[in-house]
Amino acid sequence: MTAPIEENQLLALIVDDEPFFRTVLRLFLEQDGYRVAEAENSIEAINIFEQLHPDIVLLDISMPDMDGVECCNKLHSSAQGQHTPILMLTSVEDERSINHAFAVGATDYVTKFLPLSILRQRLKRLIEQSQLQQKLLAANQQLQLLVNLDELTQVANRRRFEEYLSLEWQRQIRSQQPLSLILCDVDFFKSYNDTYGHLAGDGTLVKIARAIKDALKRTADLVARYGGEEFAVVLPDTDALGAIHIAKTICCAVRTLAIPHRNSLLCSHITLSAGSTTVVPQPNSDFQQIIATADRALYQAKAAGRDRFIHNSSLDSSFANPSYSLFGSSAPKRCGFC
Ligand code: GH3
Ligand code: MG
Ligand code: MG
Repeated sequence: MTAPIEENQLLALIVDDEPFFRTVLRLFLEQDGYRVAEAENSIEAINIFEQLHPDIVLLDISMPDMDGVECCNKLHSSAQGQHTPILMLTSVEDERSINHAFAVGATDYVTKFLPLSILRQRLKRLIEQSQLQQKLLAANQQLQLLVNLDELTQVANRRRFEEYLSLEWQRQIRSQQPLSLILCDVDFFKSYNDTYGHLAGDGTLVKIARAIKDALKRTADLVARYGGEEFAVVLPDTDALGAIHIAKTICCAVRTLAIPHRNSLLCSHITLSAGSTTVVPQPNSDFQQIIATADRALYQAKAAGRDRFIHNSSLDSSFANPSYSLFGSSAPKRCGFC
């Protein structure tokens, strides 16, 4: 009769074609508090491994059909196999097989005649090492996220923006596809802070970041906080028409938030200005070029009255200078809430 399963009991998978060895190992491991699963061949082992996700595998190196080395290779290259220790069991010192097993992902090997007290310590060490490795991996992933994230708005920070833009710039040089960039700046935000306080200003930046993020549909699109109340949007494989559509959606989305701003010189709600541009990056060029062009367009949008976007494009003559603007050069349309 098997003992009842405890919550944090470790699961060991024994793979051996000899029933006698499996039984000896199972009794020993169960005595030490492990749960045990058994497989008499490699195919069965792979199935059990995928279903039960054991904490450790004890794998006989020589078995008929698929031998232990090949089985080890298959387990190790599966999704969760990278982190599960695989202990090879050998009855003979077969140096070639052992080297091969290490090459395909075995964590360690022991002979089948190793005293059980030593085997106990080996298993303990291998499992501890694997648990530590997994914790380290998770901590590194978390750290990587934090390094790239703007703490307030939870979108990418400037560091990640520059890294991503640079990568995409290089990629588009190779593919010769268009790359678009939108720079956004909240209008009259200093007076918003002066009127409602810095904390309210922070809350509004969070809402604006969310609205910009929601306007993006492709996983390759990236929104980042570029500076205090400035956001940048990178749109790979996006032509001028696509960039204009997104810039328009963003400006409208921010208006639709209908965040009151009684001291805005424009209307009584928060608005945004944006400058966008589209280029096909050329070899030996620098990504700073697209930032400078989008920044000029943003400056023009501010100078033309704010609450609008202007697109500068060297790709399409209908969008080339003089710049294209959502609301034309006349006074901006009222936002529908004023
Ligand atoms: P414009 O329409 O020309 O963009 O005017 P503006 O007032 O938005 O521009 P300006 O550059 O004069 O001021 C930007 C303000 O953004 C200054 C600062 O109070 C505010 N700001 C920058 N970073 C933060 C932040 O993290 N939190 C808050 N609450 N405010 C910020
Ligand atoms: Mg600004
Ligand atoms: Mg501003």
